[in-house]
Order: sequence, then C-alpha cells, then structure tokens
Amino acid sequence: MTRYLCDCTLDYIDAQRHSETTSAVPSSAATELRDAPSTIEGEQVLVIHVSRERHAGLVRRAKENFRKTHGRLFCEACGFDFQSKYGSLGKDFIEAHHVTPLTEGPRHTDPQDLMMLCANCHRMVHRRMNQKGRTLTRDESVDIANLRRGT
Ligand SMILES: [Zn+2]
Ligand SMILES: [Zn+2]
Repeated sequence: MTRYLCDCTLDYIDAQRHSETTSAVPSSAATELRDAPSTIEGEQVLVIHVSRERHAGLVRRAKENFRKTHGRLFCEACGFDFQSKYGSLGKDFIEAHHVTPLTEGPRHTDPQDLMMLCANCHRMVHRRMNQKGRTLTRDESVDIANLRRGT
C-alpha cells in the first residue's frame, strides 16, 4: 500500500504501523490480553525509518511567505490558529503539507507547493489520501474540514 507522506508525517505513521504489527509479548500472553481490560504498553521496540530527504529551508520560506501574505499562520482548511489558541506556545507553529507527496520521487519543489495545515486537518488529509489511494488536490485538501460523517 502506498503511504502518502510529507515532512511531518513520517514519525507517527511508521510508529503506528510498527506498533500495529509488532508485539513484544509472547503470542499466548497476547491472546489473553486481547480480552483483558488493559494491555501492556511502553515496551521498547526498534523502529526503522526510510525517510525522504527534504529541505527544511523550503518549509521555513513557505511559512514566511504565508505570514507575509496573511499576517499570521493558520490552517488553510479550518482556519485554526495555534497562537490564538495556545498563546506564546503556539507562536510560529503550523504544519506544512506537500501537495505533491515526496513518495512520488525527487523533484523540484517551490514554497507554493506547500500548504499550511493544523495537525488535525493534516492527519485527515493523509487519511483521506490513503482512503482514496491517490493524492488530493490543494482544493480537496482545503475541503477536508468540510467533510461530514458518511461522505
Ligand atoms: Zn485545520
Ligand atoms: Zn502532509
């Protein structure tokens, strides 16, 4: 299955897939745990990443351009503004999503190929891409905040 990754999604997707497929608990114990009200977490596991090289400066420039244009950073899908919600903790925070995913191989990327998304919308865009088995256009990504149950 193709996974649509960009700069800030590598960690949680690989870690999530790994935790779903790996058990540090012997299989008999794992079977007993399946029906138990609690389970073991926190085991140390080795996670191997194959990450795509990306240019941190590109993300920084994209954020600077967005701030110059709009005066602040906010999610292009739902409008969430981390600084408005979290004060100084949220200052300068937003995630940058590659409209054309890096999984499609090396290529020239411009700052306008990135869009600003909050963590929720960013994850939902990637879930939607995995659900559809293709990338989303910029407009489809912006529309992610308008999806409702059953659509
Ligand atoms: Zn959002
Ligand atoms: Zn992304």
